[in-house]
Amino acid sequence: MTTVAPRPTARVITTHYIDGAFVESHGREVMDIIRPTDGRVIGRVTLADEEDTRRAIAAARRAFATFGRSTREERSRILRRLHEAASARVADLTAAMVEEYGGVARFADVIVQSGVTAFLAADKALREIQWTRRWDNTTVTLEPVGVAGLITAWNANALFICLKLASAVAAGCTVVIKPSELSSLQTQVLVEALHAADLPNGLLNVVTGLGNVVGAELVRNPDVDKISFTGSVAVGQTIMRDGAATMKRVTLELGGKSPTVLLDDADLDQAIPAALTMAFLNSGQACGAGTRLLVPKSRLDAVNRAIREAMQAFPAGDPSDPKTGVGPMATQRQYERVQSYIRKGIEEGAEVLVGGEGHPTGLEAGYYVKPTVFVGVDNHMTIAQEEIFGPVLCVIPYDSEDEAIRIANDSKYGLHAAVIGTDVRRARHAASQLRAGRVVINGMTDDPQAPWGGFKFSGVGREYGRYGIEAFLEPRAILEMNS
Ligand code: NAD
Repeated sequence: MTTVAPRPTARVITTHYIDGAFVESHGREVMDIIRPTDGRVIGRVTLADEEDTRRAIAAARRAFATFGRSTREERSRILRRLHEAASARVADLTAAMVEEYGGVARFADVIVQSGVTAFLAADKALREIQWTRRWDNTTVTLEPVGVAGLITAWNANALFICLKLASAVAAGCTVVIKPSELSSLQTQVLVEALHAADLPNGLLNVVTGLGNVVGAELVRNPDVDKISFTGSVAVGQTIMRDGAATMKRVTLELGGKSPTVLLDDADLDQAIPAALTMAFLNSGQACGAGTRLLVPKSRLDAVNRAIREAMQAFPAGDPSDPKTGVGPMATQRQYERVQSYIRKGIEEGAEVLVGGEGHPTGLEAGYYVKPTVFVGVDNHMTIAQEEIFGPVLCVIPYDSEDEAIRIANDSKYGLHAAVIGTDVRRARHAASQLRAGRVVINGMTDDPQAPWGGFKFSGVGREYGRYGIEAFLEPRAILEMNS
């Protein structure tokens, strides 16, 4: 294993981060990094193989022997150092997310900031958790689960890495991160930033490679105790099944098809822009995107007019332009996936209110799609049931509030949901009936101490705040006989 000095962000990435150093890849496969605004190759990454992964796991295992016994004060100091180190590169991280992934500037900045904030939020939660409980002759302590494998998706890579790392460190775990191979430049900037936090060697290891190579090794390796995964349902199911052989603890953050319930007293001037913001979050490539808008039949015409008007604030375009609402899809494959769903919606009889198939005019070069709103959608249609992961909103009519709740819950997913209405008591009542891990009222909002995660096929377990840290802990009870 050759050790090389950290260097300015490279467009040709040949190293992984193992045992506190950037080391040359043992894996030899090279992948192009493609810019989604024009499909051009902007860099190359050498992918890790099983051997790189095993070296990273071994380093994390060695480090756990010490870090697993660290005090809360030591972990707290490390979290603050991580926050400081990541904060120093916010602008670079945002720029990398815009260029490599096509994230729109106005959203990329929010994503990166919330990643950086995750370290401070974990520090706060760490102080609030009751780590030891005693009664009679029993003492229960919360112990780190061990070495954690953290596997991330491409759509908000920096956020997922920071969030999972923060929770794991707060718990006293050491980690091997397998970022999405589609986020190599973003990962490189972030790892360079985190290297400056001067962590104990082996606490943080990062190996970029393919899911079925590096990810699969993490899942099957007996020296990994826990997998925290963000990605698709199909891969989540593989992890749960294959992880069973070594009794892996798993947290799975999977897909969504989130409903926004527009109550009949909603003020459309506020409600529609809020609903569209949730639908086109991260260019629609967001697990929590509110892609089903449930509208009372009595207000359909007014809602359609309001949507047409409000869509002007969501133009497709260059992601680095702060006025752009929807950037390109991350890959050619994503572009085709979104096109196939728009086609399917038309075939199944939904009506295109805005957008439709093909590239927006003047944006033919990259992976741009037209932000699309379908009306007259039946909740049983494919476009209302399956996660499209693109800027496609389905407007679904309902007769009564009870029917709206039934439609909202008639999904295999249950990650996020929203209720919009003027009477807050009514909105709260509707929210309390929704089968989703998070429900927001009157617009997208966040709280880094509130749990995030899904009911049903949206996943297993929770992240953020104390819930996220608890996912990396095991309770140990010590019971004493009366002497
Ligand atoms: P994906 O499942 O294809 O990949 C996710 C990660 O898993 C990648 O790093 C990939 O390399 C890895 N992987 C692939 N095969 C693997 C295997 N056999 N074993 C281990 N790891 C493997 O998902 P994606 O396309 O990167 O992301 C999009 C999906 O992620 C969407 O479904 C979206 O809803 C979901 N997502 C969920 C959340 C959430 O918080 N719930 C957040 C963001 C994205």
